[in-house]
Order: sequence, then C-alpha cells, then structure tokens
Amino acid sequence: MAGFVVDDHRRLVIKVGSSLLIGDDGHVDRTWLAGLAADVAQLHGDSHELLIVSSGAIAIGSNVLGINKRRAKLEDLQAAAAAGQVQLAHAYSEALAEYKVTTAQVLLTPEDTENRHRFLNARGTLGRLIERSVVPVINENDTVATEEIRYGDNDRLAARVAQLVMADALILLSDVDGFYTADPASDVAAEHIPEVFAITQEMLCMAGETRSDIGSGGMATKVQAARIATHAGCSTVIANGVVDRPLSTLAAGGRCTLFRAAGTPAAARKQWLAGVLEVRGELRLDDGAVSALHSGNSLLPVGVVEAVGNFRRGDVVILVDPRGNELGRGLAEYSYEEAVQLAGCQSDKIEDVLGYRGRSVMVHRDELVIFNSDS
Ligand code: GLU
Repeated sequence: MAGFVVDDHRRLVIKVGSSLLIGDDGHVDRTWLAGLAADVAQLHGDSHELLIVSSGAIAIGSNVLGINKRRAKLEDLQAAAAAGQVQLAHAYSEALAEYKVTTAQVLLTPEDTENRHRFLNARGTLGRLIERSVVPVINENDTVATEEIRYGDNDRLAARVAQLVMADALILLSDVDGFYTADPASDVAAEHIPEVFAITQEMLCMAGETRSDIGSGGMATKVQAARIATHAGCSTVIANGVVDRPLSTLAAGGRCTLFRAAGTPAAARKQWLAGVLEVRGELRLDDGAVSALHSGNSLLPVGVVEAVGNFRRGDVVILVDPRGNELGRGLAEYSYEEAVQLAGCQSDKIEDVLGYRGRSVMVHRDELVIFNSDS
C-alpha cells in the first residue's frame, strides 16, 4: 500500500513552520508544542534520530519588540530574530526536557550548507549531536542573514539540512495535508496527490506562490525543498501539522503527500562525489588503509603515505593505492599543508603535530566513494 511508513526511516528532519507554532497572540503555542514534543520523544525512544528545523524567531521577536513585520526594515527583522530565537530555543528545550530529551540550538547560514569548505563543519557538529542522542533545533541565523545571502524560507533550509546529515526522510509539517493540483482553499476541484515519484516543472508551477500570513514558505517552497531532498536520496513528506500529535497522526496513516526518493542518501552522496570534476589533489595510501576503506571505515592519517596537490579542507581528493591505482575519492578533512604534516600520524598525536585540535579522520567514511567495490 502506498504511504509513508515512519519506521522505514531512521534519520528524520522535521520542519515546523511559524504558523503551527505561534499562536494568534504572537506567543509559542505551548499546547501544540507539548504534543509535538511527545511525538518527538516517542520516536527518539524508538531509536529514530531526529533533527528539528523550526521557524518562529522573527514572529516571536516581532511581538516582543513591538515590531510590525510587514513594515519592518531588515535591521528590525534581524533584531526581532535575535530576541525571538532565545525564546524559541528555550520553548523547545523545556518541552523536550519533560521527556528527558536534550536539545541543542544550531543556527545556520547558506554558507554552512552550500559551501563545501564550510559544510564539513556543520555536518561534523550535527553528526556528533545525533550520536549523543541530542535533538538539534535548527533555524536560519536570521540575525546576520541579509536578503541576498539567506535561505529565505525554512523549507529550503530543512532540505539542505536533510542533505547535509544524509537524512532518510524530511517531514514538512504544514497547515495543509499535502500537495494538491490547485490551491484547495480557493479551488473546490483541487485534487490531493498522495504520492509523487518525480517532481516535474508542471508541479512546481501548480504549487504556485501561496503564502501563509506568518511564515514565509508556501507550497512552492515545499515542492522545491522536496526536489532538493529527494535528489539527495531523502524522501519528503508534506503533512498536516494542525493537529495535536502531528507525527503520531502521520505514523498512523494520516493523509499526506509522499515524494519518494529514487535511491538512498549514501548512494546519492557517492554519485555526487564520483561526478565532481574539480579534483584538487591526491592522498597516497598504504595497504592497511586500503583494506580499512574496503571494510567501510574512514581514512585515518596513519594510513596516508603522501599528500600531493593543492587542496583545502572540503575539496575532493583522489585516493590512490600503493600500486598507483585510483581507489576512489573523497572530501579531505584537512588542507594539503596539514595532510603533509599528518601523513603516517596516529590520530591521538594530531594535536601534537598540528599544535591545535583537529579531526580524527583524514576522509570520513560518509564522504568517500570506492570504485569497483560494493562497500
Ligand atoms: N527563519 C525564520 C524565523 O525563524 C522563518 C523563515 C520561514 O518562515 O520559513 O522566523
């Protein structure tokens, strides 16, 4: 049967829009948030890994500072975001503390996900939080974001986060229960589409430019987000969040639109890596490293014999076996200069060699592809 099966997806990004979270009085709707927290805690207890992308900072802060969002200047909105974000993060941390779930606030700018040299940083931090069973609560860093350099809407931010952490599913909680052939609020002939296998240009046009009063996203940004995420191997769901327990409702078969990803996040990442044209250098490996990589492990500095080229952290480098064959490629966690110093070094000696604390791996296993191998 068609439909979204939550249990088939381990790592989930949940996107919460301002219109769900913020009541008419401009404050966090604590009752709704308590229901969401109960659902998040339950999934967390069932071994799902969750990340929440939540809007609401500007809406809350505008209320606190008495700013009229529609007439506000950019600086006013940035000030509102600064005042509102504290309360937003606090509301989540309180709501989830009821269930002994720890949260962490992460504020991102497009540089953190779009720029390869920066994205390893955000990925490393989010990965470590998830490993420690913490639920990150993520928003755009609106306080420093300007019109030209911002995600603009949290649907896109959530899709980029899903791509970054290689999430299995992205759940966009909305005030509608999915994608329709037209705006159901204004067209009685609008038909609900339960499942989408490929996002077409026609669908993007159908999604139109509908906007809700509080948030900045509409159906168009959701479909665009679904396109980003599904290309990254992450299935995307648009589901109704205007219910007490939105995630349990979805898990119980609540109506939604499921945009199916063609492959897995790992396959999409490897396909992307394999296709990157701009390769900046080489890491020549010993036999121990080659067999470690074939077993699915990360590349440690100790397995590197030599670094060649001129690469920065985040650049693609070729991995070469002792016979000079190209084994695969991956994203370098270190620059060329650092890699030269670290070649052959045990991971616990990295700080002694570099003089500062570094990453324990040279190339992370999620960021490498081995050619002619199933691993
Ligand atoms: N980042 C904005 C906020 O927290 C919201 C963006 C959106 O609504 O999509 O207020």
